[in-house]
Amino acid sequence: MSLINLKNQTPLQLARYSASIITLSNLVGLVLLKFWFIPSFSIWLMLGLSVIIFIVAYFLVVGILERYIYHRVKLIHKTIHRFKSKRNESLSDKLDLKHRLIDEVEHEVLEWAKDQEKEMDDLRELEVYRREFMGNISHELKTPIFNMQGYLYTLIEGGLYDENINMSYLKRTAKNLERLQVIVEELDMISRFESNQLKIESKAFDLPTLILEAFQATELTAKEKGISLYIRSDMPTGYLVDADRDKIKQVFINLLINSVKYGDKNGNTVVSFYNVDDQTCLIEVTDNGMGIAAQHLPRLFERFYRVDTSRSRDEGGTGLGLAIVKHIIEAHNQTINVRSTVDVGSTFAFTLKRS
Ligand code: ADP
Repeated sequence: MSLINLKNQTPLQLARYSASIITLSNLVGLVLLKFWFIPSFSIWLMLGLSVIIFIVAYFLVVGILERYIYHRVKLIHKTIHRFKSKRNESLSDKLDLKHRLIDEVEHEVLEWAKDQEKEMDDLRELEVYRREFMGNISHELKTPIFNMQGYLYTLIEGGLYDENINMSYLKRTAKNLERLQVIVEELDMISRFESNQLKIESKAFDLPTLILEAFQATELTAKEKGISLYIRSDMPTGYLVDADRDKIKQVFINLLINSVKYGDKNGNTVVSFYNVDDQTCLIEVTDNGMGIAAQHLPRLFERFYRVDTSRSRDEGGTGLGLAIVKHIIEAHNQTINVRSTVDVGSTFAFTLKRS
């Protein structure tokens, strides 16, 4: 009986083996006693004694295992289960000496330790993310608040009566207030998406009509930069998709505004859409602006991620536009991606359900 075999035994089998070994060694002792010292010792008596030794040894070993090992293993098992979200009830039922409990508990403990380690890693990651996020929010809010403070105190301290600055400072204050409002509204939208409070209300609508509405909403900004917005000429005039119309309009507006903000003067932004299959269509918003270097692309949809922070702020960007776009598309169970080349332009492509 090798050690490997012993490892695979149940406690009751182990007790049987131990009792057999004890009985056998006693039997050898009794046989030697008979041949050397007490020849009258009856074989039947020897056998009877061996049976008694076996029974006593068996129950003794079972008792020791039960009391000193199994009792404690059960306690460990119960303690671990109290912290485990998913209870393995079937194993709890097997907490007796007929099963190879130690192996199973060992397996559970290792699994539990692995889970704990993963949970700790997740918590650590979340903590870093939370700290970064809090830092970003306070940084974003601080800038307009400090600006407003500066303008208002200058006005209070006499600037109000200085015709050279009073109106322009008030206008700047109002602009910073608007920026603050945009940041808070966008943050609110993201947090509602993340807590599943924003529901998608899908219905069929005509995609080209919606794109034209989004063009209208961004037309003024585009005109200021001489950027033309258009739907690619070979696209059908009617095309139905099934989605939340208002939210998809928001997606277009965010993408179009970006294409203008980061687009070249007198550039173009083109929207096109294609059938991927019977159920899905692919929509692309392409500009011929400054483009984005490859190393930024994987993080582009993260909250507050910007390629050029100062340019984004100068353009009134909050760094939340693409995060919102991604949330909206993913809430539709669809996907979005970006391809871009520096100084050539960018294409944001997302899918929607065809109607
Ligand atoms: P922001 O408010 O800064 O525009 P977004 O989340 O909308 O925030 O975009 C994140 C960053 O991605 C921007 O700061 C910009 O650097 C980059 N970006 C987005 N769209 C484009 C684009 N069409 N062309 C070039 N860069 C872009």
